[in-house]
Amino acid sequence: MSEKFDPATNIQDIQYFGEFGGVNPSITDSATYTFLEAGRMEEIFEHEIEGCYLYSRHWNPMNKYLADALAQMEGTETAQVMGSGMGAITSTLMELCASGDEIVASHTIYGGTYAFLKNYAPKFNVNTKFVNITNLESVKNAINENTKVIYCEALSNPLLEVADLPALSKLAKENNITLVVDNTFTPMIFSPNALGADVVAHSLTKFINGTNDTTAGCVCSSKEFIGKLMDVNTGSAMLLGPVLDSLRSSSILKNLRSLHLRIMQHSKNAMHLAHTFQAAGLKVKYPGLPDHPQHELMKSMMNEVYGFGGMLLIDTGSKENAYKVMEHMQNANVGYLAVSLGFYKTLFSAPGSSTSSEIPEGERDEMGMSEGLIRMSVGLDMDIERTGNIMLEQFKKINLV
Ligand SMILES: *Cc1c(COP(=O)(O)O)cnc(C)c1O
Repeated sequence: MSEKFDPATNIQDIQYFGEFGGVNPSITDSATYTFLEAGRMEEIFEHEIEGCYLYSRHWNPMNKYLADALAQMEGTETAQVMGSGMGAITSTLMELCASGDEIVASHTIYGGTYAFLKNYAPKFNVNTKFVNITNLESVKNAINENTKVIYCEALSNPLLEVADLPALSKLAKENNITLVVDNTFTPMIFSPNALGADVVAHSLTKFINGTNDTTAGCVCSSKEFIGKLMDVNTGSAMLLGPVLDSLRSSSILKNLRSLHLRIMQHSKNAMHLAHTFQAAGLKVKYPGLPDHPQHELMKSMMNEVYGFGGMLLIDTGSKENAYKVMEHMQNANVGYLAVSLGFYKTLFSAPGSSTSSEIPEGERDEMGMSEGLIRMSVGLDMDIERTGNIMLEQFKKINLV
């Protein structure tokens, strides 16, 4: 009988011992590695050999430990860690596309990824068609013989749209296209590989690390794809060099050990706030609410115990309202006016004028990203009822409740 796939159990089962029997692996604090025989160096330069290391941009033991744990979490053959989420995403896309190729991407994606696809990749004659990813017909219509990649976020930033990964995977397979999914908003909640994604990317900066003390990223995929990414002669990640430092790998791995508990608490708190705000008459968007357009779809794809995630949206109607209430909430010490997500404290920002400002105003309107939108990454508060009540008082100050 096959056991049910569970990301947290998979990570729990993976063990590494440090020198002297340490319960955590020893940090490898070296950029280069010595060899006893010169001939061996040549061998390792040509082929990755398990347990042998040459130079830290290629591989180092600590980065390998973290990468292996992330592959366990996503259920992929292997993984590679990077110095940032953007490093992971851009090297993946550069690896998959050459001049003349096209990408079909969701129009609601992280602002940096949008800017890369819209403004940067065209320098290399790689062009992107942006589509409403929740409309499969429009995805289908955007595909042509040059399309190499379908790109989306499992739960999108900032609009919290859910992508139908099994349907997109089917479409990709029929057309010989690679499906790349950014799972940054929903680690453990979604297992995109099991739902048909070929490559799963993360910004580890957010929920996975969870302490906002570093940027990092990863790509989880087949041995074949990661091998290409890391090829010493042609690989994008190898040659562009978005390497993660091994000291940071070590701290991220330790934080990953408690990710499942944090995600459950983020989800529980976000669900409470979503209900509280909605009951008070605020315009809330949260995939855990039955009125979210992809609520049922999300239920059909998610690993249920982890909940609907820590991200929610409130539409305050105007930029002025959004700015004022965020300042009030920060002054009331229920969160910080800051970009990024996945922190112990609630973080909020207005995506239209910050993380998604790379998207032109006209296009922001088209996709329903209004100026009064507040994106909240709900924290790990123990007493979320108290936090919710304090937050509501701040909305009262601007007459929204
Ligand atoms: C933050 C973020 C990224 C970029 O990650 P960095 O670590 O900041 O480079 C990519 N995708 C999503 C969904 C993000 O939230």
